[in-house]
Amino acid sequence: MQTVDLIVHASWIIPVNQARDVLADHALVVDQGKVVATLPSKEANLAYQAKEELDLAGRALIPGLINTHGHAAMTLFRGMADDLPLMTWLNDHIWPAEGKWVSSEFVHDGTQIAIAEMLRSGTTTYSDNYFFPEDAIRAILPTKMRAQLNFAVLDFPNNWASGPDDALAKGTELVKSYREHDQVRVIYGPHAPYTVSDEPLLKIKALAEEHGVGIQMHVHETQGEVDDAVKANGERPVARLHRLGLLGPHFQAVHMTALNDDDIRMCAETGTHIIHNPESNLKLASGFCPVDALQKSGVNVALGTDGAASNNDLDMLGEMRTAAQLAKAVAMNAEALPAYEALAVATINGAKAMNRHHELGSLEAGKLADFAAIDLSDIESAPIYDPVSHIVYATSRQQVEHVWIGGEQVVKHRELLTIDRQEMIAKASTWRSKIKE
Ligand SMILES: [Zn+2]
Repeated sequence: MQTVDLIVHASWIIPVNQARDVLADHALVVDQGKVVATLPSKEANLAYQAKEELDLAGRALIPGLINTHGHAAMTLFRGMADDLPLMTWLNDHIWPAEGKWVSSEFVHDGTQIAIAEMLRSGTTTYSDNYFFPEDAIRAILPTKMRAQLNFAVLDFPNNWASGPDDALAKGTELVKSYREHDQVRVIYGPHAPYTVSDEPLLKIKALAEEHGVGIQMHVHETQGEVDDAVKANGERPVARLHRLGLLGPHFQAVHMTALNDDDIRMCAETGTHIIHNPESNLKLASGFCPVDALQKSGVNVALGTDGAASNNDLDMLGEMRTAAQLAKAVAMNAEALPAYEALAVATINGAKAMNRHHELGSLEAGKLADFAAIDLSDIESAPIYDPVSHIVYATSRQQVEHVWIGGEQVVKHRELLTIDRQEMIAKASTWRSKIKE
């Protein structure tokens, strides 16, 4: 008998593997932070002896959710400016508030508050596009949350950097320092085609290639963005990025509404990843990402919540449900984005976009043991024909009961083990009083 750190028995394990299995009455075997095996519970007890063993009857284990796009610190602006179109929301509310408030401490506190919310809803890896990435890292490390930080680069100055060259100099130091880091990775985050000109984009392309890391960028957030670009330069943003050589397997394009057949073809041919943010797009009336058409063309589609200022929560279970429903409406096809594929979009596809699919995104031997236990034992989940259907279409984040990252428990019976939740509530309240002044 082999001794291991942890065995978790559950009524279901949904590994999100290639075969799209649903494993009933199985055990997840974990040792030294990694998945050793998933096997029938009876066999697990014959083959392994564990230092800790849990029996989670009525629960389903899923890979930790991967929130592939957001702005964590903007949680401090949650609910501050609602019911506005994107450019009014940005120009009249968000950018002035950021100019006034964004600082080292704002980013540190906002990031930790966001992580507390994300961990409690089963997210174990998230991607963040913001300023002061060194302070985000300071906030992230003690929580055990994994993160991909794509630091913001814009043509104009902001509170963190005096311009694109300053941002690139500061950010590239972090790219180098965290290249092999288990928990935090830093990549390039040019904000959007309408805020970053060709010269910094070409620098970013060269730097990302030199350091072997990715680029994440908002692209085609609205039809207006596409129309303005065509009017100004006669070129659609996706075509411009393709001409500059940015599209490719290291490029993560966020939003991607208002796509025509040529845009989709360019993404498919280059292996560009698309990060879909359905709730933010709906709330800002930005437009629709054609998820079904992209997937049928072979494009990898991952999922993000975007920031809490435009969503207004960081709930990946809710986002997954919205994505599954919206894909059907946009395609006018009820077979678009079926339940198990929606779960893949929220897990393994995010890992692929971040180029970490060899170690994250599914529960398979050798991968990092990031997983969540979802309680399906109560009336809201009865009866159960298919646990995947319930997780996508009928589960709220309050049913996320336990969460592990790298085999270490970070949420136990809905309580956070690496963050003081009461302290976070108090900090949010303090910031709200200041910002409201
Ligand atoms: Zn965004």
